[in-house]
Amino acid sequence: MNKDYFRFFVILTIGFVVGLIFNKIFLFLFLAATGCLIWQQQKLSQLLQWIQDREINEAPESPGNFEDICIEVDRQQLRHKKRKKKLAGYLQQFHQATTALPDATIVLDNEDRIQWANKAAAEFLNIHWPQDQRQRITNLIRSPELIKVLNHQFQDEHNTIDIKSPINPDVNLSLRIVPYGKNQRLFVARDISRLQKLIDIRKDFVANVSHELRTPLTVLRGFLEMMVTNKQCPEEWRSSFETMNSQADRMENVISDLLTISHLEEGPLANKPGVVIVPEMISAIHKEAVALSAEKQHLFNISTQSDLWIKGSSAEIYSAFSNLIFNAVRYTPANGVIGINWYKDKEGGAHMEISDNGIGIPAQHIPRLTERFYRVYQSRSRDSGGSGLGLSIVKHVLSRHKARLKIESKLGKGSTFHCDFPKEITVGNLSSEVNQTA
Ligand code: ADP
Repeated sequence: MNKDYFRFFVILTIGFVVGLIFNKIFLFLFLAATGCLIWQQQKLSQLLQWIQDREINEAPESPGNFEDICIEVDRQQLRHKKRKKKLAGYLQQFHQATTALPDATIVLDNEDRIQWANKAAAEFLNIHWPQDQRQRITNLIRSPELIKVLNHQFQDEHNTIDIKSPINPDVNLSLRIVPYGKNQRLFVARDISRLQKLIDIRKDFVANVSHELRTPLTVLRGFLEMMVTNKQCPEEWRSSFETMNSQADRMENVISDLLTISHLEEGPLANKPGVVIVPEMISAIHKEAVALSAEKQHLFNISTQSDLWIKGSSAEIYSAFSNLIFNAVRYTPANGVIGINWYKDKEGGAHMEISDNGIGIPAQHIPRLTERFYRVYQSRSRDSGGSGLGLSIVKHVLSRHKARLKIESKLGKGSTFHCDFPKEITVGNLSSEVNQTA
């Protein structure tokens, strides 16, 4: 039997016996029960005081339920202490690991205020924790690019942006913002100075080699052309000279495209770009495309919005659009149809669509087409005089103009290349449309 019930039973029995002796059973039973209740209440309040502050107060000493409750409270508290110690250990390990992270890592709240930052954040971004806690990150790093990233206005396909360290311009940082939890964001800045240096060395190397090759090649081509056109050239050598001449032509194309890429990589577009009168440019490219098409007699369907212009570099846009249009000519069989469509959408963005019903591209090649020297059909591309750098140039030019390249193609049916320009770089208004078929 439970000790508490036993105690209660004994006291009531004593009350009953004494009541019998004095012939007042109910009075003595009532007194015994009231005594038990008062005793229980005293023990309960002692237990409460002990739980609230165990340092000062004593535990109620009474065998039975109170003793069991005290033992259980002791056990729970021990378990809680152990768990707390374990969590503190984990927290310390996490803190050590994040502090040792070579990348600057900052936790931002939903208003871009700093909640926590590691040691590297001080080294690269001059952000100190806890001194800068609750400060808005944009007040500490004054970079227009950073504001754009925070507002989701500008990020490349890898969700990163490169800036110079605000405290050391020799350090290049790649910034990344990763959302997590409830409206929190992790801001990570990685030092990419070494990588940037290697990229710069590669760019310089390609640019220098291309420059160095251009002059001797021009001399060679001059002589080869002279030999091909010279009537005194022995007939048995003529075809060899012609092949050498056409190969020299190809080399010249490759070098010229490599120099174009080097130039595109040199720096961003000028702060105050000019205006590109796209419809006029399309007419000029169309004339060249007709000449390139020659006896293949392609049909050109051209639709341009005459007052839709863009801000940017005319030379670069010319290079991008002509590459796409000439590709359409080169990869479309005789009498094929080539479409050129320049229009503005409802949101104000400008779009160039160049379509053909040519050989098309197998789906697995499409994601890699803009890589340098990537060709679907090696020999066909070389025979048609392609350098293998055309789409790479297109991608570069478009990204410098904040535009994107989208490629759709079906093998044997044809391809469409979309160049999508954002509203912010368009000039002109939606009023007239010019359609022509050539
Ligand atoms: P290339 O100088 O070889 O044409 P590009 O970079 O311009 O180099 O194009 C890369 C490859 O993409 C080409 O080799 C070709 O296989 C494919 N390609 C480009 N445009 C078209 C098109 N309109 N139709 C079919 N294939 C195309």
